[in-house]
This record gives sequence, structure tokens and C-alpha cells, in this order.
Amino acid sequence: MLYAASYMTDKMLKFVKLDQQNPPKRKVLDRKEDFNEIYSEFINEKAKEQSSRCSQCGVPFCQVHCPLSNNIPDWLKLTAEGRLKEAYELAQSTNNMPEVCGRICPQDRLCEGNCVIEQSGHGTVTIGSVEKFITENAWENKWVEPIKVRIEKKQSVGIIGAGPAGLACAEQLRKQGYQVTIYDRYDRAGGLLIYGIPNFKLEKFVVERRTNLLKKGGIKFIQNFEVGKDATLSELKEKHDAILIATGVYKAREIEIPGSNLENIFPAMDFLTASNRKGLGDKVEQFDNGKLNVEGKDVIVIGGGDTAMDCVRTSVRQNAKSVKCLYRRDRENMPGSAREVSNAEEEGVEFVWLSNPKKFNGAIKIENVLVDKMKLGDPDESGRRKPIIETNSEFNLKADVIIKALGFDPENLPNLFQEKDLKVSTWGTIKVDFDTMETNLSGVFAAGDIIRGASLVVWAIRDGREAATSIKNYLEKIESKKAKVA
Ligand SMILES: Cc1cc2nc3c(=O)[nH]c(=O)nc-3n(C[C@H](O)[C@H](O)[C@H](O)COP(=O)(O)OP(=O)(O)OC[C@H]3O[C@@H](n4cnc5c(N)ncnc54)[C@H](O)[C@@H]3O)c2cc1C
Ligand code: SF4
Repeated sequence: MLYAASYMTDKMLKFVKLDQQNPPKRKVLDRKEDFNEIYSEFINEKAKEQSSRCSQCGVPFCQVHCPLSNNIPDWLKLTAEGRLKEAYELAQSTNNMPEVCGRICPQDRLCEGNCVIEQSGHGTVTIGSVEKFITENAWENKWVEPIKVRIEKKQSVGIIGAGPAGLACAEQLRKQGYQVTIYDRYDRAGGLLIYGIPNFKLEKFVVERRTNLLKKGGIKFIQNFEVGKDATLSELKEKHDAILIATGVYKAREIEIPGSNLENIFPAMDFLTASNRKGLGDKVEQFDNGKLNVEGKDVIVIGGGDTAMDCVRTSVRQNAKSVKCLYRRDRENMPGSAREVSNAEEEGVEFVWLSNPKKFNGAIKIENVLVDKMKLGDPDESGRRKPIIETNSEFNLKADVIIKALGFDPENLPNLFQEKDLKVSTWGTIKVDFDTMETNLSGVFAAGDIIRGASLVVWAIRDGREAATSIKNYLEKIESKKAKVA
């Protein structure tokens, strides 16, 4: 016991002596020149050193607050000991894309935000960066291998949507030997990881490397296939023994103020998809003709979430003349990650806090925005303080382009899928039994943003994994019923 305690203080608990260090961040001038990721990776020794700062809590709050319940203290300890293959195996046992989560989880609100050493006045353990390091190191060493199915099962599952929820579910089911087909309306797999989130947060090779691995493991991808147009839900149900709906949420929230129909006012996803497609080498007419390219323009982005942060920082990299972010609450009450706000500020984005557009002005195109100054009242149902207009506080801001990043709602899936019986909530999200992830239609499950509303990659992965467990149980029950009848 004594030995264990002294071993622990020798190898771990170094937060008292060792300061927090993040992997180097590229210099602002340098990173504004391209779309590459802004954080480098830990080198081996640094990852070991930073992992050894973990205090190995009896009740690890980091793990409790990770939606995947990642076994963080154990993989930090293995990393500190240089046992990197075991660290990787542990990290990937609860997470289908640790290299993605390590890069883009808002760790300040999840694992790192609950690290106890920060509460004792030391900087948190840099959990996300170590998770990224462990997995990148595993890819380099070829430890990340395609699924090898020992016994192929006859039953098949159709998954609608190749975003993180669909991909995680597909991987878990394929590991069990099921036939899995993913249908997606886009030409590339990855969902928002490919066409939403920009390269400077998540380079595309990271996503493509994963989806290629899943293909090698026998998962079938059918791209450019839109359920509702190319097949109805009931046609897909005929083809497969179970279905997962993991279609995400894509209907952009609108802003209903005078002048909304002026030219050069765009939804965020049009702007981000065009930019991501350009980065992937596609021909994008709307970008090439200058419409969705903001070079030399005064840009105003409206919104305060992750999407707004990605739009302002994409605008900076497209060499906009000026970039402003209008948000109706203040910094403390915004939904976006604090880390992304400070990255945007470093890159020259101006935040106009407590401000709300009242009218878009212009002859044909947007020319300027009339803005109301806001103040914060009592907390609303979301727990955040409610913005209230300050009387006689209007001011004008010049704009050549407006990007609306006000959030997303689900599309009308019962209509789209021609399945009127599919139950949805008042917000349009699919209703599931959260114990089984099953919808009201037998054998049809759902996961990710389409059941939660716009959320996070890590929650989509968790839902996908949970749906896979329930689908397996469901399929096993069917098999055993058949066996009894026979
Ligand atoms: C700009 C932006 C930035 C973000 N940044 C972050 C971040 O930094 N960190 C983070 O954790 N989260 C972030 N998110 C949220 C995160 O991307 C989502 O929560 C996550 O991708 C949801 O996964 P999903 O699998 O449910 O859906 P999606 O990723 O949206 O995938 C759904 C897939 O379904 C397909 N599909 C839809 N309808 C059909 C149909 N009828 N037929 C066939 N296929 C269909 C779509 O083409 C898509 O590929 C961001 C979101 C946005 C928009
Ligand atoms: S998946 Fe996200 S929340 Fe969980 S340990 Fe990794 S970075 Fe933290």
C-alpha cells in the first residue's frame, strides 16, 4: 500500500510542480493565412509530462462529465508511464472517434471544466490534447485497424445519415457482425464534420481517414441518396431488419426583420459548406463568382454559438475587410466555447456584445444594419439571462455581407420520409424512448442531433453507441423468436 502511494506520487500528481502546458498554438499572422488546424500536437515527452499532472481522483469528475464516460484518469496514467498502445486501446474502447473529440469537444464545459486540480488553483490537465495525441500516435503506429468480422450475420441495418451518430452506431454494429449500410444525401461521408466544421478546427483528412477505415471494415456507404426522395422510410424498412435515423438538424433559424430579403444575406451553412468544399478542391460556383467569398468585404455574423464562431473565423481567413459578431447577450451568457471566442478575438474579430439587429438597410444589396442595444434581465427557461431592448439605443453598422448563424431546427421528417406516423416533439425532433433509442415505429431507432436538437459531436457518438446496443438486443429477440417458431 505504502509502495503504491509512493509510486503514485513519483509518477503522477505532478500538478504541484509542473505547470499546465498546451500544445503550441500557431502565431496569429501565420494561421490567418491558411485554413490549417491552429494547434500543433504534443510531442511524446510533453504528453507524458502533462498526463502525469493528473491527481488520480477517487471519483473522477472529468469522467463523470464526459458524455462517453471516458476512462480519463487511467489513460492519462498509461500515457505518463509511456504505455501508449494500452492508453489508445482504453481511449478507443469508449469512443469511436477520440481524435475528433480531442480536437473539437468544448473541454472547458465538459471534462476539463470539472478537473479538480483547477479548482485547487492549478491549470486543468490538458485532457483533450492528450486524447488527440494518444490517437494520432496510434494512427502513426498503425494500431488503428479496420474491423475484422469473425462471423457474418445475415441481419442487416440501414442507417440514414453518415454524421458522427450514424458512423458510431455503424461501427458498433459491424463489430458484432451485422450487415450495415449507411445512406447519406451528401456526396461525402462525415455529416457536419465534413461540410460544417472548418479545417482550422478539424482537418478533413482526420474525418476521411476514419470513414475509409469503416469502409475497409465492410460498412457499405451509399452517398447522394436522400431518404424521402430516393426512397421512403417504409421502402428502406422493407430492405433492412432495423433502421437508425441519424439525419441531424439542418433547417436554419430565420430572423424576421425588415430587409431580410436583401441580397448578400446568407445562412451560415451555405457559407461554411462553400468554404469547406473549396478546401476539398470542389468547384463551387457561388464562391467562384464572388457571392459566398467575403474577401475585401465588411462582414457581420449574427449569433453566439459554435457556428457563428466558425463563420467569423472563416471570414478572417478569406481576407474580409472587417469581421464583426453581433450577439444579443454578453460574453458570460453566450453558448459558444470560450476557447473559440478568444481564438476569434486574437484573429481580429470584433464582438459587439448585447446587440440585436432591428432592420437590414439597402437598395438591392445589404448596405448597413440598424442595431438595438440590449441589457440582460432575469434568467429565462434556459437558465441564461433574458436580453431586453434598451430604449433609444439604436445604432448603425456598415455591412457588405450578413451571415445568419442563429441555430438550426429539424426538418419535417414525417413529411419528408412520407411516414406520417413517425412521432416528433413540438420542436420537430424525433421522439425516442431514451432507454432504448427506439421511436414509436417498431425497429426504427434514432440518434444524434435529430433527437436532441443541435448539440455536440460527443453526444452524437454516445447516442449512436447506445442505439447500437438497443438495435442488437432488438435483432437478437427477432432471431430467437424465429428459432422458437422453427
Ligand atoms: C458549424 C458548426 C460547428 C460545430 N462545431 C462543433 C464543435 O466544435 N464541437 C462539437 O462537439 N460540435 C460542433 N458542432 C455540432 C456537431 O457538428 C453536431 O452536433 C454533430 O455533427 C451531430 O451529429 P449527427 O450525426 O447527429 O448529425 P450530422 O453531423 O448533421 O449528420 C447528419 C447526416 O445525415 C445526412 N442526412 C440528413 N438528411 C438526410 C436524408 N433525408 N437522407 C439521407 N441523409 C440525410 C446529412 O447529409 C448528414 O451527413 C458544430 C455544428 C456546426 C453546424
Ligand atoms: S470525449 Fe470530449 S469530454 Fe470526453 S474526455 Fe474527450 S474531450 Fe473530454
